[in-house]
Amino acid sequence: MTEVIDGNAVAAEMRSALTDGIETLSDAGVRPGLATVLMSDDPASETYVSMKQRDCEEVGIEGIHVELDPDAPAEELFDTVADLNDDPEVHGILVQMPLPDHVDDRDVIRAIDPAKDVDGFHPENVGRLVAGNPRFKPCTPHGVQKLLESADVDTEGKDVTIVGRSNIVGKPLANLLVQKTDLGNATVTLCHSRTTDLAEKTRRADIMVAAAGVPEMVDGSMLSESTVVVDVGINRVDADTDKGYELVGDVEYESAAEKASAITPVPGGVGPMTRAMLLYNTVKAASQQESVDVELP
Ligand code: NDP
Repeated sequence: MTEVIDGNAVAAEMRSALTDGIETLSDAGVRPGLATVLMSDDPASETYVSMKQRDCEEVGIEGIHVELDPDAPAEELFDTVADLNDDPEVHGILVQMPLPDHVDDRDVIRAIDPAKDVDGFHPENVGRLVAGNPRFKPCTPHGVQKLLESADVDTEGKDVTIVGRSNIVGKPLANLLVQKTDLGNATVTLCHSRTTDLAEKTRRADIMVAAAGVPEMVDGSMLSESTVVVDVGINRVDADTDKGYELVGDVEYESAAEKASAITPVPGGVGPMTRAMLLYNTVKAASQQESVDVELP
């Protein structure tokens, strides 16, 4: 039987576990605050930000939302980030990507106070992660680790193949999984668009993670029996639905599920975990900045 790893359920458990930490902070007179900044009129980005704000409200995190005109000068965004860096009620700052072409996203990431960088993308936080001393684990890779843990999938000694080497998913996940820690100790193969014979790399995996942004590119023929399959991809493809599209992953679910011992669905797999781990990082940020000890799940 293939186990379907229910990301909604694991994320709900995570949110519920985080409420203990939020209560501890509250007893110390601290309400964690997360600022989201949106400089885009892309509907998907608007949806992501509003979901993040809703999540905050649900668990008792103060959500602060700033919206900037996508045509505004880059300076407006840098001024906003500087204000949020200085605001003691803001513990975490998330600038929703992608940004307009006239704004350099790397400069924006560098402008965020690393102590408030709950995405974990600031070079200081990336360096700490690589060195094995993470301050904030980036939300999607951390969510993948928690999903594997929830399904009792031990990563130690396992061959993991990751398809996709982005700075937000593939690279940080590879860095987490090779650390000499729990949920690490794996042997990682990191693939990308220049990888030759991708199927050979996915077939050798005990755990295969797809994060390429190519709808259904990994199918059952590219997997060995009993592989654990984690599908990070979220792709909108045209479909005869009310919205005119449906969401599919980077994995062709039916054929992959026939081979897999466990698999994450899309939607309802990694996506909810990414959101839950943002709350986790915000609670951690508040605990660190306010020097209040909080037990994190
Ligand atoms: P990027 O576009 O930044 O990176 C995609 C990576 O996949 C690149 O490294 C690229 O290689 C590689 N790639 C693309 N095509 C192929 C191919 N045919 N064969 C092998 N490798 C390939 O994407 P993201 O990492 O931002 O996102 C990946 C997917 O995950 C998207 O569907 C996105 O929507 C989803 N996502 C989901 C999240 C969630 O919470 N579930 C969170 C973040 C992203 P190269 O470097 O050579 O270009």
